[in-house]
Amino acid sequence: MAKPEKLIVVGGNAAGMAAATAARRRRPDLDITLVEQSGRIATANCSAPAYLDGRIVQVSALENLTPQNASEQYSLNVLTGHQALEIQPRAHRLAVRNAATGQTFDLPYDRLILSTGARPIRPSVPNVGARGILALRSLDDAEEIRRWLEIRRPSTFVVIGTGTIAQVCAEALKSHGLEIHFIGREEGLMEDLEKPISECLMQALLDAGIHVHFAENITGFQVSLENEVEAVEFPGQTLRCQGVLIAMGVAPNTDLARSAGLRLGVQETLQVDRRLGTSRAGIYACGDCTHSFFRTTNKPFYWPLATTASRQGRQAGEIAAGARGEDPGTLATRLWTCLGLQVARVGLSSKLARDMGVKHRVTHASAASKPGMYGGHSMDLALISDPETGRLLGAQIIGKEGVHARLCALSAAISGKLTLKEVENLDLGYSPELAALWDPVQIAGRLGRKRP
Ligand SMILES: Cc1cc2nc3c(=O)[nH]c(=O)nc-3n(C[C@H](O)[C@H](O)[C@H](O)COP(=O)(O)OP(=O)(O)OC[C@H]3O[C@@H](n4cnc5c(N)ncnc54)[C@H](O)[C@@H]3O)c2cc1C
Repeated sequence: MAKPEKLIVVGGNAAGMAAATAARRRRPDLDITLVEQSGRIATANCSAPAYLDGRIVQVSALENLTPQNASEQYSLNVLTGHQALEIQPRAHRLAVRNAATGQTFDLPYDRLILSTGARPIRPSVPNVGARGILALRSLDDAEEIRRWLEIRRPSTFVVIGTGTIAQVCAEALKSHGLEIHFIGREEGLMEDLEKPISECLMQALLDAGIHVHFAENITGFQVSLENEVEAVEFPGQTLRCQGVLIAMGVAPNTDLARSAGLRLGVQETLQVDRRLGTSRAGIYACGDCTHSFFRTTNKPFYWPLATTASRQGRQAGEIAAGARGEDPGTLATRLWTCLGLQVARVGLSSKLARDMGVKHRVTHASAASKPGMYGGHSMDLALISDPETGRLLGAQIIGKEGVHARLCALSAAISGKLTLKEVENLDLGYSPELAALWDPVQIAGRLGRKRP
C-alpha cells in the first residue's frame, strides 16, 4: 500500500489551524503535522486586551483548542514546543528543534504550508530591551504585561503607536487607573482614517484623559540600575513612566523562508501567487507572514489581520490538499472599538487612493442609527467613490452603536461594484426599534450622489 502523503504546517495559530483543519476536511487520508514553537495553538489573540483589563480572568479561556483536542478532533500530529529551523526544499525536509530536549530532527514532507505570522516592530534605539518595555502579540505577552502590572504596580504607562492595537491596549491599561501617554508619528492618529473620523477618535482619547503626543521619533529609553524602564525620550521631551507598550505595527516572520531562498514581496512579506504558492513548488504561505491582494486593484497588499489570515489559511489548506481555488483578496476591512466608540473602515481610504493613484472623492454624512426614543445614536460616515462613475470604492464609519451592520452593507456594496445611487436605493428594511427609515448608509449614498 502507498504511504499517505505528508503535509506539514508551520505555525499553529489563526492561519495555520485554518490550513490544517481545511486540509483534513478535504483529505481524510493525508498525514498532517502541525509544528508550533510556543506551547499553545489556536489562541484568541484579538481578545487579549480583555484579559489585560480583567474581563477575561483565566488566560486559558482564550485557547480555542488545546493541542490534545486538535489532535483528537482533526487527526493531526501536533508538535507544540517545536521550532522549525530550516527548510531543505530540494530534499523536501524540514529541520525541527524540540525546545524541551534540545533535540533536532528532520521531518519529510510532500507539501509544506508556512503560517509563521508576524512580530511587533520595535524601534532601534538604546535600551529598547529593558524590563517593562512590552509588546502584545501572543497570550504569553498578555501574561507578561499582567505580571508587570501586578509586580511593578506602575502609575504611568507610555503607549508607542496610535493604531488600533495601541487604542484597545490603552483603554485596557487605563482601566487599571494608570495615566496613559500616547506617542504617535507626526502625521496624526491614524493616517488611513478620513479627518472627521480620526478627529472624533482623538476627541474620545482626550475626553478619557489620555495624553497624546506627536513626535518625529523616539530617541531612546532611560533605565534604572536594575534595567527597568524609567522614561521615554523623544525630541524635546522626556516622559517618566514605569511601563511602555510598543504598538508600532508588525513585520512578517520570514526568516525561515528567506534562508531557504524563497522570494519576498511587498513589505518584506513572503511572496505568493493567487493560489498562495510561494516561489518554490509545493510550498505555500498564508496569514500574517504573507501578503494578500487588494480586491479593487488586484495589487499585492499586506493586511495582517485575523480575517485575512483565517481566509487564506483555509484556502491554502484546501489548495495544498488538491483543491482548485484562489485567495479572493482583501478589501482591507477593519473593525474595532475604542472608549465606547465603534470604528470601521473598508476599501480605499483617500490616503490609499492617493498612494495607488486612484481618482476619488470623499463624501461625509452624519445620520442616526435608529430613532433616539429607541436608543439610536448619530454616526459619522465617509464614503470614497469614483468621481466619474460614482462607483463606491471605500467607506469609514464611527459611532456608538450599529457600526458593524453598516460596515457589512458597505463592504458588500463595494464587492458588488455598486454606485452611490445603487447604495442609496438598497432595500434595507425598517423597524423603529431596530433601524431608521432612511438608513445612514442610504443617506450617505444620496449625499455623495448629489455632490457636484
Ligand atoms: C492584541 C491584538 C488584537 C487583535 N485584534 C484583532 C481584531 O480585532 N481583528 C482582526 O482581524 N485581527 C486582530 N488581530 C490580528 C490577529 O491576531 C492576527 O492577524 C492573526 O493572529 C494572524 O494569524 P497568523 O496565524 O497568520 O499569525 P500568528 O498569530 O502570528 O501565528 C503565527 C504562529 O507561528 C508560530 N511560529 C512562527 N515561527 C515559527 C517557527 N519557525 N516554528 C514554529 N512555529 C513558528 C508562532 O509561534 C505563532 O504561534 C489582533 C492582534 C493582536 C495582537
